[in-house]
Amino acid sequence: MDRNNLEAKVSLCDDFQKEVSQILIRHKSILDIMTKLDEYNARINRAVAKSVTTCGCLEINAHRQNFDSDSFGKLPLSAKSHVEGNICDSCSDVLEEEIGSYMFYLAALCDTLEISLQDVLEKEFERARTLGIYSLK
Ligand SMILES: [Zn+2]
Repeated sequence: MDRNNLEAKVSLCDDFQKEVSQILIRHKSILDIMTKLDEYNARINRAVAKSVTTCGCLEINAHRQNFDSDSFGKLPLSAKSHVEGNICDSCSDVLEEEIGSYMFYLAALCDTLEISLQDVLEKEFERARTLGIYSLK
């Protein structure tokens, strides 16, 4: 991602946090925000599970990861997601909606605690860029 593209996304992130801070009323308590984050985290996982068990557009074929690669640099190629198939448009729409709601409450949490979501994103992006695969995530 080039710097201009990053700045545009960061600005969107900052604008999003400001918007959330202005419209969050009903669940403004930190307790509501924390539990809403948990709720939407569960809903994201549920949406992925329903893509497998109800729709069938995805399958999960999980097994032990093979980290026996000769070189640390080759590990990203040998590690598997265990996901087979392609998410359909309908499941993707549901998942995007759940992720969006999660992000709403994540922005609300940041705003309540006077943390800039923009700064968080910038710092994490720089850590990822600097450490690369050595971040061990
Ligand atoms: Zn589907």
